[in-house]
Amino acid sequence: MSLATGLLFSVVSWIGLSADKLPSPFVILPQPQSVVLLKGAGLESDKLHQIFLKGEFKLPVMDNILSQMTIGKSAGTGTLTLILDKTITSVPSDEGYIMTVSQDRVEIISKSEAGLFYGCQSLEQLLEDARDYKKPVPSCKITDYPVLSYRAVHFDVKHHLDHMNYYYESIDRLARYKINAIVFEFEDKLRYQRQPLVGAPQSISIDEMAALTRYAHERHIEITPLVQGLGHATFILKHQEYANLRELPWNRWAFCPLNEGTYQVLFDLYRDAIAATPGSKYLHIGGDEIGNIGLCPRCKPMADKEGMMSLNLYWLKRVCEFAKENDRIPIFWDDMPLQHSGVYESTWSDEVTSEEAAKSWKEGTPKLDKLLEDFPKNCVYMRWNYSLARQPGNILALEWYKNRGLKAMIATATNTEGGMLFQGENRDQSPSSSGIINIRSFIQLAVEKNVNGMLCTAWDDKSPHMENYWRGFIASAEYSWSPNGRTLEEYDNAWLQREFGISMPDYLSFNNQLRKGSVLWYEAFFRNGDLLSDENALQSLTQLEHWLKPLEGREKTEFDYTLKLIELPDLKSPGSWSQKYKDRLDRAIIEMNNYKNLSERLTELYNTSKRNRYYWSLSKALYDLQSNTPNILLALKECDSGDKVQQQSGFENVKRAMNDFQKVWTEVRSVYGQTRFVSYPANYIPDRYFHLASQREDLTWMIQAQEIYFGMIEKWLQIQE
Ligand SMILES: [Zn+2]
Repeated sequence: MSLATGLLFSVVSWIGLSADKLPSPFVILPQPQSVVLLKGAGLESDKLHQIFLKGEFKLPVMDNILSQMTIGKSAGTGTLTLILDKTITSVPSDEGYIMTVSQDRVEIISKSEAGLFYGCQSLEQLLEDARDYKKPVPSCKITDYPVLSYRAVHFDVKHHLDHMNYYYESIDRLARYKINAIVFEFEDKLRYQRQPLVGAPQSISIDEMAALTRYAHERHIEITPLVQGLGHATFILKHQEYANLRELPWNRWAFCPLNEGTYQVLFDLYRDAIAATPGSKYLHIGGDEIGNIGLCPRCKPMADKEGMMSLNLYWLKRVCEFAKENDRIPIFWDDMPLQHSGVYESTWSDEVTSEEAAKSWKEGTPKLDKLLEDFPKNCVYMRWNYSLARQPGNILALEWYKNRGLKAMIATATNTEGGMLFQGENRDQSPSSSGIINIRSFIQLAVEKNVNGMLCTAWDDKSPHMENYWRGFIASAEYSWSPNGRTLEEYDNAWLQREFGISMPDYLSFNNQLRKGSVLWYEAFFRNGDLLSDENALQSLTQLEHWLKPLEGREKTEFDYTLKLIELPDLKSPGSWSQKYKDRLDRAIIEMNNYKNLSERLTELYNTSKRNRYYWSLSKALYDLQSNTPNILLALKECDSGDKVQQQSGFENVKRAMNDFQKVWTEVRSVYGQTRFVSYPANYIPDRYFHLASQREDLTWMIQAQEIYFGMIEKWLQIQE
């Protein structure tokens, strides 16, 4: 193609795309690619009463408003006409659609059933606004399509399981935002038939999961199973029956890659995972963070001779061949090859300068190129980075995949700060930026580098309630569809309107106020670090920290946990405790003063929301939980006085606050219980390691610091009285 026609072509393809925006209050999330406002009166919310299908296809699944229409025999007044036309060329993606809204009818045209489905989702949102705000949908022509073709979110059920109806409802909700895949990390929550020992007692049966997969498919969502293999295998290797497959007999983290038994077990699990997800295209095989191989008598010679990476690649080749034979495209976390080539740090560390990154890639590239012939070509290499993601080494990694013709996707993360309470949103663009800015940043980079798929991960290490992840999930839907559409502030507004039917101009500062209380809650009772720090794990099984060298005998460390927590006031030296902990006590006063206002606002948000009120019930329960901590701290401060009357009142207030704690904790359990199982059955074999949520079987890992600290307080009170 000559330069002139090339230019002409690109100009033509943009004609008609205009900068019009839908007038307030109309919001489509994700933002459509192009809106052209047309002359004429708009469409009243109750105008459409029938649907007409033009072409051979199934009626798309529709949401509340559209599903109430009958099926008509012709287009015309009051009709939504859906046209399947494989010949149209004016939208660049098969998933795209063109929708024309006029005073008395709507027409949606697409090359594919997915496109028609997405057109209906957009129309549903417009009609929802027309109904909620009592205004006609403006006459308009919308040309819309996604920029990324694989738009996935992560359901990680390592340490918890939600009720099946919550998963069904989640699929409806994801479909509304045009997400088209879920990477479902089963761990032990699938009732594997070929290796029945692996599935937890209340796990999901293969048939049940297959039914969920079909339900998702009808909504144009694929469920991609993720079964971890070489490392991250404690959910399998915790069982004594599999001990012979461990790389080291006393280490439950990793399989031995040269033991044939490893593949018998893994392939059985894959076969079951494939059976549980009929019709899906991908199989995520994990493959990250393997610190503990190359150590057994079988593997050591190969590791010594050919390097550790050869063992990783041997495993990768085997599992990718399996995927191919079973008609799945494998997806693989890419950190191990990058680590063994010496470039890994440059992909995530903000300390590595551009020059240092360039140097490490200059040295590392020949090593990676040497491995290239062993890299399976049917595999998708998933680059993960949960920060702003523009570290020079991370950019070079995406370029390396592109230049070597390997398929890559990216993985970003929702709730990057990992806690189970309110998440911070820091948008100052520094390396410590958090929240949805990181999601947008990596997706925009992916688009620049021609990467066509993204996963928004939702790690279960600290097992937040799934609702805690949705703001990020929806942000990933927004930016993977329209990477350069909305600003972050526009996203906030669109999210509030679509999810709840409300507006809230100060949302960000409100959230950050809640977040400050969460940070105090995490830190309040710890001498160093906080509840989320690995070193404060209740059962710190150091043996399973994959980043450390394994060392026999270190796996059981008994220690006195109370030594990790702050001491209680010494009443022989009144005031000294208050002095020592002045910072957290000052923060506690701020939290106490905010309580009435924030609590009332949460109640008001619950009352005024038109949908998803559960989110605010959960927020209120978590807020009340975290607000108990300042009460405890300030009551202890009251005790820390030379005045006997004040001391006595302090004791009473401490007891009252501990009593209140039981009430707010009961409420949290009850709210959680509406969507997830809050405890494992008694015969569950624990899968303990450094993850906070793996330390107990009944949600009390969330409050283990409180439980132990309250025990200390009770003893202390007995001595004082
Ligand atoms: Zn081995």
